[in-house]
Amino acid sequence: MKAVFVASPEGVIVKDVPAPHPKDDEIVVRMKVCGLCGSDLEKTTISYGMGSTRLGHEPVGEIAKVGNNVTGFKEMERVFTHHHVPCYSCYYCSHNAETMCDSYQLNNLEPCGLSEEFLVSSMHIQRGGVLKLPTSVTDEEASLIEPLACCIRALNRCDLKGIDDIVIMGAGPVGIMNALLARDAGVKRVILIDPNEFRLNFGKRMGFEVLHPINDEEKTRSIKDVLSGRGADLVVIATGNQKAFTQSLKMLRKGGSIVLFGVPARSSFVNIDLSFLYANEISILSSYAATEVETNQALKLLADRRLNFGSLITHQFNLENSESAFRCAHDALNAMKVVIVNEKKK
Ligand SMILES: [Zn+2]
Ligand SMILES: [Zn+2]
Repeated sequence: MKAVFVASPEGVIVKDVPAPHPKDDEIVVRMKVCGLCGSDLEKTTISYGMGSTRLGHEPVGEIAKVGNNVTGFKEMERVFTHHHVPCYSCYYCSHNAETMCDSYQLNNLEPCGLSEEFLVSSMHIQRGGVLKLPTSVTDEEASLIEPLACCIRALNRCDLKGIDDIVIMGAGPVGIMNALLARDAGVKRVILIDPNEFRLNFGKRMGFEVLHPINDEEKTRSIKDVLSGRGADLVVIATGNQKAFTQSLKMLRKGGSIVLFGVPARSSFVNIDLSFLYANEISILSSYAATEVETNQALKLLADRRLNFGSLITHQFNLENSESAFRCAHDALNAMKVVIVNEKKK
């Protein structure tokens, strides 16, 4: 079978690898759709800031094989599988920091989500990593569960109660997801900032205010004026671009918060005046990944179809054409969410 890996020194390669067989307590899922995350793109460059370089963590598929001792799942069931699950018994797990659990990043899909079939461990099965999909959600929509879950967690960490104005740096798929969630939670004003015209127009069509950091440089710089002379309550950094962080400090109101959502490149150092942070009571939060609490919330949101997340998917590529898919997502000339499908006929 085919699976996609990071090539050396950069890019991706489709390889033939042995098809997985489940042990008694495992299942094998046949991938149907798997989205490309911004972090997948960053993994294909040498400056990626996190440990794993495994590709594809948004996979949806149907169960192909079930181990002898697995109960509650059967062949042909449609499922979303979360690539990481926490242990639920360590200090972090009992202190509301499940994604910081030492075993969270150690478990993963084998060989990866961007694979015709992949192995799902007993840990994933027992700890909420496998969600059955209702018929009201298409495979494509369900492939948004993981990124949407990450956005839900990030905004929950910020506590949107009492927040009127949000600036989102980066109008890519997760930027727009954060924007849709914020508006749905009652945030009055959401401004998206991105240098990509296609993505800005996409955001505009969804009813958001948009700014181009260069074309609207003055406005972007004086975002405080745009926001009643006060500045934003919250800035979400939905990009790995380090500049966005330094710019965001100038956009915040006193007492405002920044949430780091996009994965920064390794060694992204910034010069910050601590006295500015202190005197202005600026909070800097970060949000990494999600748990089954948020994946279940995301699935529910997608299933009730109130917010049109599905429209974010603009491109589908066959697994064999993953290289083109990565290029399309990277260049983002006319792309929002790019997904890989495992259908030989396409
Ligand atoms: Zn991701
Ligand atoms: Zn734990």
